[in-house]
Amino acid sequence: MYRYKNILLRILCVALLVVSCTNIAYAHSGRTDSSGGHRDNKNVSGLGSYHYHCGGYPAHLHTSGYCPYRDTFPSSVSVKAEKTSLYLGESTTINGSVYPSNACNTQIDWECSDSSVISLRNNTIEAVGFGTATITGTSFNGKTASIKITVKEKPVELVSIEEELISLELGKTFNVQATVNPTDATNTELEWKSENPDIVTVTADGVITAMACGKTTIYAAANNGISDSVTVEVNEIVATSIAIEGDSQIQIGSTTNLQAVFTPHDTTVQDVTWEISDTSIAEISQEGVLNALNIGTATVYAKQKDVETSIQIEVMPINVSEIIITPSSDEKINIGESMDFSAEVLPENATYPAVTWRTNDENIATNDENGVLQAHKSGEVIVIAETEDGCTAEYPLKINNPIQGVIVGVGVVGVIAAAAVVIKKKKKI
Ligand SMILES: [Zn+2]
Ligand SMILES: [Zn+2]
Repeated sequence: MYRYKNILLRILCVALLVVSCTNIAYAHSGRTDSSGGHRDNKNVSGLGSYHYHCGGYPAHLHTSGYCPYRDTFPSSVSVKAEKTSLYLGESTTINGSVYPSNACNTQIDWECSDSSVISLRNNTIEAVGFGTATITGTSFNGKTASIKITVKEKPVELVSIEEELISLELGKTFNVQATVNPTDATNTELEWKSENPDIVTVTADGVITAMACGKTTIYAAANNGISDSVTVEVNEIVATSIAIEGDSQIQIGSTTNLQAVFTPHDTTVQDVTWEISDTSIAEISQEGVLNALNIGTATVYAKQKDVETSIQIEVMPINVSEIIITPSSDEKINIGESMDFSAEVLPENATYPAVTWRTNDENIATNDENGVLQAHKSGEVIVIAETEDGCTAEYPLKINNPIQGVIVGVGVVGVIAAAAVVIKKKKKI
């Protein structure tokens, strides 16, 4: 019974189709061509000048070459992405599916809502900017599906500074190195900061400079707050040795400035303690100014913490540089007469100004400790004045024999006798 009904229904359907087809065929006569369509130049169908019936269907078009009666058109599209969240620079593929799977055309056209965020090439996408973009897949018959892709930074997970403690001498610089992981993090830039810039400053590149003695912490932080730090301690540059520069021979009564020279030369502690072994010889100030008090030697010490040095200094007399001999009279001197000589010693502050007198020929004249010359015999003699430190001066002198002068000029006998006595006397001496 059921089977019979079913067959009856089919026959009825076919009959209806034939009727409708016949009706349309009547509306515009003409054969179908090799493509299965025919012309409708007067556009009786309202579909244009060409359409299809495909074996009895109502007049229809074959959009994109597909028949809506005979072909299966896509009913929906789905879109999937390997990742919907990308880091800048990262790429992934988009997969689109058309349903049903036996659809006559499974092609999908892709479109991106923001090319500044996502660069689209076929079904490969690349993250080119931060933000969100929508990728839409469209089937040939206009069915669509979309997916949102977000582009974000690849975050820094670890910042590490190799050193735990950096010891820096005052005034010195050091480039602190920090590594960032992962190395392909979007923003590997670090912000450097010093806890106390009075002690240590740090540049944007991590170069630290020791400004003052003390201890502080240097931080390197990524833009997401991940950071590491290092303790930096700043110490003085301590001298490893000292040398004393300056005169080691100083004239009595004068001052000289001794200098302490440190090794290394950039020692930051420049103060030094000065001492002298014998303060009766010389005094020294804490600025290194030595005041020579008495002739002699002493040891000068320059001390700083654990280093010390010393030099021997000698306080020297002020030597006589010049003696000027002056006779009491510029008159001639005769045998038996005396004459005073005085000596001016220069410089005036010479340590040993005392002069001793003598002559180069004591037969002709002698000169006592007070500079009083006694003429004994006629002739030429040199008066010599000498100081203790060996400076000498000479004064040439001519001693006349007045009797001889008389003999030659006047010829008085008695005077000759007297003169002879003087000569005798002189000889006795
Ligand atoms: Zn037709
Ligand atoms: Zn068709």
